[in-house]
Amino acid sequence: MEIKRIPLGLIKSNCYFVSGATGALVIDPGFSSQQVVDLLKSAMDKERLILLTHGHFDHIGGTEELRRQTNTDIAIGKDDAVMLARNDYNLSTRFHAKYQPFSADRLLCDGEAFSVGDLLVQVIQSAGHTIGGVCYLVNGVLFSGDTLFMESVGRTDAPLGDAQTLVQSVKKLYSLPDSTVVYPGHGHSTTIGHEKEYNPYVRSDR
Ligand SMILES: [Zn+2]
Repeated sequence: MEIKRIPLGLIKSNCYFVSGATGALVIDPGFSSQQVVDLLKSAMDKERLILLTHGHFDHIGGTEELRRQTNTDIAIGKDDAVMLARNDYNLSTRFHAKYQPFSADRLLCDGEAFSVGDLLVQVIQSAGHTIGGVCYLVNGVLFSGDTLFMESVGRTDAPLGDAQTLVQSVKKLYSLPDSTVVYPGHGHSTTIGHEKEYNPYVRSDR
């Protein structure tokens, strides 16, 4: 499995292209990107899916165009689907971002697992940053969206955010093996073990 991190937009939101032998994923195409379109077009012979970790504009803004250009379905956690259509929830209004509402093809539930070619995707609900954000465990590697960053966590002051819920979600992620590599929605990768030891916002022992 190959993972390519593509920071997009002014906020440098991480988009990921994940490629296996027979499956390919794009996670969080937050802004239109020819590079991301070309990467997914290079995988047209594979099973494909676009996964969204949550419904903020900087993670979803390039999704509709990517679907149109590559004929690839879009999936999001079911409780965040409302954010795709509500510019006050997805913050595009607040940040004056160009955004056209769209809808997803698949709504995902906590604990759901499915295959995209040779990529096994497990859905882990991780609300708090938004009301229905999810993380994706793909062949044992975690894509944590804006729930967990290297030595930080997502903010909870936007509409539909909740600080206590976020802490519970991060603690749920801490139950994964320490060696689990984490690819967050912003910044560089980390591991669950590193975060349990060094993350100042959520301690594993409290
Ligand atoms: Zn966010």
